[in-house]
Amino acid sequence: MGPFKLLIDGKLVDGDAVMDVVNPATEEVLSQCPRASKAQLDQAVAAAKAAFPAWSRTSMDERKAALVAIADVIQANAPELGRILTQEQGKPIGDAVGEAYGASAFFRYFASLDLPAKVLEDSPTRKVEQRRRPLGVIGAIVPWNFPLILMAFKVPAALLAGNTIVLKPAATTPLATLRLAELIKDLLPPGVLNVIADANDLGGELTKHPDVRKISFTGSTETGKKVMAGAAEALKRITLELGGNDAAIVLGDVDAKETAGKIFAGAFQNSGQVCIAVKRAYVHDSIYDAMCAELARLADEAVIGDGLEQGTQFGPLQNRMQYEKVLGIIEDARSHGTVIAGGGATPGKGYFIRPTIVRDITDGNRLVDEEQFGPVLPVIRFSDAGDAVARANASPWGLGGSIWSNDLDAAWDLAGQMDSGSVWINKHAELAPNIPFGGAKFSGLGTELGEEGLAEFTQLQIVNMAR
Ligand code: NAD
Repeated sequence: MGPFKLLIDGKLVDGDAVMDVVNPATEEVLSQCPRASKAQLDQAVAAAKAAFPAWSRTSMDERKAALVAIADVIQANAPELGRILTQEQGKPIGDAVGEAYGASAFFRYFASLDLPAKVLEDSPTRKVEQRRRPLGVIGAIVPWNFPLILMAFKVPAALLAGNTIVLKPAATTPLATLRLAELIKDLLPPGVLNVIADANDLGGELTKHPDVRKISFTGSTETGKKVMAGAAEALKRITLELGGNDAAIVLGDVDAKETAGKIFAGAFQNSGQVCIAVKRAYVHDSIYDAMCAELARLADEAVIGDGLEQGTQFGPLQNRMQYEKVLGIIEDARSHGTVIAGGGATPGKGYFIRPTIVRDITDGNRLVDEEQFGPVLPVIRFSDAGDAVARANASPWGLGGSIWSNDLDAAWDLAGQMDSGSVWINKHAELAPNIPFGGAKFSGLGTELGEEGLAEFTQLQIVNMAR
């Protein structure tokens, strides 16, 4: 595998240092990775700044053609990118290749959008037009759970709007992104897209860099607050996609077995390392026991293992820190509820934790109140739907949420009471490039995807002419 390089000013370069990337399924070093210095970050920003004037003057059609060309290359190389992703991130190979195909589809979607000027008034006294101009250099910062798809929330929209980019993947999952950079480097003029890797030490530098006009950040709430503070001095634009603690509220009129399967999938995909995973299941008293039993059965049957092995449904936690955090949350939960499936690590190498179901637990402890970001689901009993919504809303987060019922009118009404950026009915965690996505409260600021997401990479300009 490799060698991997940084992409700075159209050239593939070594880092000023190197670092190891570990395979979380084996705990062995997967590959060495270039590590950028602060000087290389500065070079990347300078290259993006120098490339901006010409790139911002290209036509929308030229930029769309570049996005389609990138989409084609990602699609053609999805099996290779997926294999790298599985080995650095841990997810099963089918999911990893699917993520690469998804990234390709997101580039293709943005190539279908436009940023048309809008005439607001055309009267005898004045003509007023609203336009959208690119911002300049964008710093794009990505976490370790979905390196490719989360990159594709940002890069195609930023490029289409006429911006240039410095992209920084997470320290523990840089490889698929660096390989992607190598594959697409000749599809854009030098400096338009720069990709650097760090040891978790350059995000703050990128955030406060005076020549970066906007930070598009996905990651934890705690780091998001630092980004907000770091961006304040230069008053740069920020979009923050942060953590969540999504509640699924299951009313008593659903089929418990069928719904349990869907809740299970919504909670345990990517071993629970999904910002919009179901992280709290509120289940009506009348079906509580049946739901718990079916969730436990599914957890017991789940196949966990190395994502490259055929049949693996769930891979390891991505890194040791997250693995230890989740084990700590499970230990804490033992004194607040009953573990009915899973409950800990598997013996041997790798950061594996069996899917864990905890019942007879309620609000006010770590598993329910914090973002566990791992394969453990608390199942909480309720008898009044309004009370369940109030408990769901009591969280400081507000990323997603879901209502499950056969009474679609009642579900529609309850959905409107959820204090979150997305609410699903009879499903959870469905994303598409044309559907705007963003969080309420501690889950973020601003929007990605869709036309709103594209607009966030622009500056609104009003041209107002006297007549
Ligand atoms: P993290 O905040 O630790 O790291 C995210 C990125 O920020 C990494 O690239 C990291 O190197 C960088 N970073 C570190 N310090 C920084 C600083 N001071 N300034 C700027 N950047 C810095 O997050 P993580 O642990 O990698 O990811 C998991 C978190 O991400 C979870 O909370 C999850 O819910 C959240 N997430 C949110 C979304 C969403 O769309 N809302 C999507 C995926 C993940």
